[in-house]
Amino acid sequence: MQRARDILKSTFGYDSFRHHQSDIIAALIDGKDVLTLMPTGGGKSICYQIPALIREGCGIVISPLIALMQDQVDAMNQLDVPAAFLNSTLSASEQRIIEAQLTSGTLKLLYMAPERLLNPATLSLLQTTRIALFAIDEAHCVSQWGHDFRREYQQLSMLHERFPDVPRIALTATADARTRSEIIDQLALERAAVFVNSFDRPNIHYAISESGNSRDALWSFISENHAGNAGIVYCQSRKGVEATAAWLSSKGRTALPYHAGLTQELRQHNQQRFLREDGLIIVATIAFGMGIDKPDVRFVAHMNLPKNIEAYYQETGRAGRDGNPADAWMSYGLKDVVGLRLFTEQSDAEERFKRVMHQKTDAMLGLCELTSCRRIALLAYFGESVDQPCGNCDNCLNPPETWDATTATQKALSCVYRTGERFGAQYVIDVLIGKSNERIENNNHDKLSTFDIGHEHTAIEWRGIFRQLIAHGYLATDTEGYGVLKLTQKAWPLLKKSETPQTVMLRALHKATTKKRKIPAAAADLSASDQQLFEQLRSLRAELAKAHNVPPYVIFPDRTLTEMALIRPHTSSQLLEVSGVGQTKLERYGAAFLNTIRQ
Ligand code: ADP
Ligand code: ZN
Repeated sequence: MQRARDILKSTFGYDSFRHHQSDIIAALIDGKDVLTLMPTGGGKSICYQIPALIREGCGIVISPLIALMQDQVDAMNQLDVPAAFLNSTLSASEQRIIEAQLTSGTLKLLYMAPERLLNPATLSLLQTTRIALFAIDEAHCVSQWGHDFRREYQQLSMLHERFPDVPRIALTATADARTRSEIIDQLALERAAVFVNSFDRPNIHYAISESGNSRDALWSFISENHAGNAGIVYCQSRKGVEATAAWLSSKGRTALPYHAGLTQELRQHNQQRFLREDGLIIVATIAFGMGIDKPDVRFVAHMNLPKNIEAYYQETGRAGRDGNPADAWMSYGLKDVVGLRLFTEQSDAEERFKRVMHQKTDAMLGLCELTSCRRIALLAYFGESVDQPCGNCDNCLNPPETWDATTATQKALSCVYRTGERFGAQYVIDVLIGKSNERIENNNHDKLSTFDIGHEHTAIEWRGIFRQLIAHGYLATDTEGYGVLKLTQKAWPLLKKSETPQTVMLRALHKATTKKRKIPAAAADLSASDQQLFEQLRSLRAELAKAHNVPPYVIFPDRTLTEMALIRPHTSSQLLEVSGVGQTKLERYGAAFLNTIRQ
């Protein structure tokens, strides 16, 4: 372990291990199998990189995404670690060179996708080589319930049979117990040491609002808090992605679309620009994001409700991997709530599976409608209990007002009942506020006792009420996709006023005023002159990144630049004290950064 600590300092430039890193590394050096669950940004890569450097032979890293291997290898090469990847983007002769490096024992890390590994030729090549370890990254891809399912991952259990003496480490940031046991089963990791980290991401600020998918709300959030910062905006549909990207561009931001309908080249191009340029926004469907290592994503915005809390947590987890403050922001509307229920109902999954999906939807809606600390609820969902409110979510910072909505609820429910449970929210609301139209007249619904009994609220307010009533389970929507509202069991006691009185408390309807929270690009609150130096270091980094054709954070992360701006080292040995500066980076870039600081 002394060697491991030396490498941590000299190669990576860090003083101490985080979380379970040192236990994991020790287990692998000892030749044991490991399963590690760590949140995004927790520092998973070092867990296999350092043992690969210490053990004899080459570490084989199995990663699902060919597109990102180049950056992983670049990052290693920047540290003078001999690393390469094998995939279809290489020419035949390039592949032969790498295979020769592998067999001659000069490589320490080799990245490949599972399908390449499972190829008989690759397997026999590996069988003639000394292998330090197998690292199975994004191990949740074995789970057929998840949206990242990759069939080849399930065949990786054969590594255990073919290479019984080589330790394996499976890594994932997906937390739930179901996925965890699937990974153990599918990869034959019954005897592995399991390390589960806290899933809390304290630097992420969570906020969920009900502004009805509004672009204006998105724009005020971005322009007030994230002028110049990089971020991801998730939309449900391809159309939504295109329209939102165009809208943000018209507002003067560089916003690039990413969805499965674009050509492979364009997707690749947009992703590369997002990784390599500072301050870009990517607007994407959930097709975007797995394995994205960009550490300085300052915000993740959702324009629709994610399907479940796992997806929400995984997507928002792409913000702030560098540990600096970041925002997870979401705006949703009535349409989303209806859509989610429908999606499950219409899927051709078996009943048992649908029930699980419904529970997951309910949990997601429950999180949205929550009036207490979001982080406590999120962590509880993943089996972690915390008793202190976090102080870094919208509900902690601006406790939402609630109001006694019993009467409004009774009016709404009885109007659904009187109109025969045959209409969607829009129609029922028109009846409630007495806004007649031909359809209402034809149905004689302007003669109903519930016609015009709700004019104390506007149509928009009623939409908010209906959305909450669906979320709280007083109303359900039909399964055919028309958004027809039906009463649930839970609704009846409220309609029959004779029964024990029951109050319904709902979130206040006026829009929550979000306090302005400027998230700086740098970690600490820098003084004006430190900030100026930070900006200069940042442009130096951009130049160097361009010259070496790597993403800027591969040169140094923001946190390292912030420390340089604060400490202002003048000598090489002072520079080595800065977190993130190791021997190799010092030799490569030390002079340039010292020069800028001196000036
Ligand atoms: P993950 O794969 O878990 O999302 P990474 O391996 O990319 O996370 O690590 C996230 C960031 O944390 C990287 O910039 C990495 O260099 C840094 N890091 C990892 N371990 C340490 C450590 N012990 N001390 C300081 N920084 C670390
Ligand atoms: Zn909180």
